[in-house]
Amino acid sequence: MHAEDFGIYVHIPFCERKCIYCDFLSFGINTIGNESVEKYFDTLYLEMNKKKESVNKTITSIFIGGGTPSIVEPKLIHSLIEKLRKNFVIAKDAEITIEANPGTVKKDDFLMYKDAGINRISFGIQSLNDDLAKFLGRIHTKEDSINAIRNAQKAGFENINADVLVGVPNQSVDVFMSTLIELANLNVPHISAYSLILEEETSLYDMIDKGIVKLPKDELDRQMYHKCLEYLMSKEYIHYEISNFALNGYECRHNLLYWHCNEYLGLGLGASSYINSIRFRNTSNFRDYLSLDFNVFNEEVLSDTDKMNEFMLLGFRLTKGPDPKMFYKRFNKFYHIIYKEVLDKLERLGLIQISNVKGKFISYCLTGKGYDFANQVFMEFV
Ligand code: SF4
Repeated sequence: MHAEDFGIYVHIPFCERKCIYCDFLSFGINTIGNESVEKYFDTLYLEMNKKKESVNKTITSIFIGGGTPSIVEPKLIHSLIEKLRKNFVIAKDAEITIEANPGTVKKDDFLMYKDAGINRISFGIQSLNDDLAKFLGRIHTKEDSINAIRNAQKAGFENINADVLVGVPNQSVDVFMSTLIELANLNVPHISAYSLILEEETSLYDMIDKGIVKLPKDELDRQMYHKCLEYLMSKEYIHYEISNFALNGYECRHNLLYWHCNEYLGLGLGASSYINSIRFRNTSNFRDYLSLDFNVFNEEVLSDTDKMNEFMLLGFRLTKGPDPKMFYKRFNKFYHIIYKEVLDKLERLGLIQISNVKGKFISYCLTGKGYDFANQVFMEFV
C-alpha cells in the first residue's frame, strides 16, 4: 500500500431482489427494463468522460460494487473496464474487483471478467447455511456458493473474497463457524466478517420491531467474532482490519485506500468521491442520474483537523493502527504528540496500546478489549 494510491469505485445499483437487512442503494432489476440497464452504463460512460479531468493520478484499484454487478450481462462489465482504461491511466498492477452474487453468476461469466482484466472477485456469501441464507433473503444456496467459488478458481481467479455475516437472528456459533471452516477449506484467501447492523427501513427492522425475531445478544455476537479471529489466525489468515482477514499478500488494496484516507473517484448512482480534500456524492435518484444530472451533493471541504481526525479514526480500524509515518508525511506532525491526551486516556482504559516504536515514530493500535469497544475509540476522533 502506497500513500499515493488512488481508486475508482463504480456503483451498479441492480439486484435480483432486496435482502431483508439491506439498506444499500440498490433495487430489483425487474423493476426497470433492459433499456434502462444499458442506458445506465451509457450514462456511466458520459460521467467518466466528464470527470476524467479531475483525476490526474494513476489508478491503483478499481472496485465495481453494488447492488449486484454480476447481475448484468458480463459484456457490459467488459466494456465498462475498457472505457475506464480509455479515460484513466490504470496501473499495470492495479487491483480490479467485481462484487458477485453466487446466485447470479454463471461459469462463463468468470472467463469474460478475466478477459476484461478483473483480478479479484468478492462474493456476497453471508452464510453457507441454507436456512439462514433464505431467512436473509439471499437468492443462493450453499451449493450455489461453493460452485461459484470453484468456477472462479477454475477460471484462474486466486484473489477471492467472501463476505460473511456475524450476529444474524437464529445463528449459532457452530453454524457461523461451519461457514468459516468451509471457506477456509475452499482456499478462499480473503474473508470479511461483518456484524449485522440493524438499519431502519429494512424488513428485518420491522420484524424485530414487531417481535417476530430477535437479534442475538451482544455476548453471542462477540463470542462469534472472537472464535472467528482465533480460527482464521490458526489457518494463517492475517487479521489486518477489525472485520477483515487475508492470507499474506491478499489484503484488499482498494479498501486499504479508504482506511488510509486516500483519494478516490466514485462513479454511478449515489457514489461518493474524495478528491483534493473535498468529499461529495452523486445523486441517488435513478431518473435524475439517467437524465445526466452530474451535480455534486453533500459537498464537504475537509480542514486539516478534519483530515487528521479521520486518519486516526479510520486508522484504528486497522490492526496495526494509524500509520505514524504516513501521518507525518501528510501533516508534518507526530500523532502521538497532537493526540497525546486522548491516546493516554484510551490507553488507561485498556482500549489501545503502543504497538511499535521506531525512532521518532510511535504506533498505537487497538487491544483485544479495544476490538469489542472500538466505537468508543472512534468517538474520540469525531
Ligand atoms: S444482494 Fe447485496 S446489495 Fe443486493 S439487496 Fe442483497 S445485500 Fe443488498
